[in-house]
Amino acid sequence: MHEVLHALGVAHEHQRPDRDDTIIVDDAEINLQYPSLADQFTKLPSNGWWDSSHDLEIGSSMMYPSILSTGDNPVMVLKSDGTTQWGNHGAMTTTDALQEGCFVGAPWGNIILHTFFYTLIFLHTYFSARKKCSFLH
Ligand SMILES: [Zn+2]
Repeated sequence: MHEVLHALGVAHEHQRPDRDDTIIVDDAEINLQYPSLADQFTKLPSNGWWDSSHDLEIGSSMMYPSILSTGDNPVMVLKSDGTTQWGNHGAMTTTDALQEGCFVGAPWGNIILHTFFYTLIFLHTYFSARKKCSFLH
């Protein structure tokens, strides 16, 4: 889901301009553990993110895990209660849907892109199923 949303133009949840209201991003820890990933944690400018007034969601599929594969210390912490354990790249959340629905800005562009990507997903699923089920030839 993460990569599909990127293809649709959605940015990382942990890079949104208002992220500091909700999470603490530890740049020093990122640079220590995974320097080449540092630009994936850079805060976006305000014009790089659509402000839907919806709060940051740590369960967003566009959120990186708080603990990277390269270390035991978290690189992000939830401000409200100090939570350091998350990492859900499975389901789409409210903030994902809001960002995805808005990135084009033009309804027709959105409809065309949706049709295109859902067709691709359908074709991929269909042909994957055909490979597995020989009776479908
Ligand atoms: Zn990503």
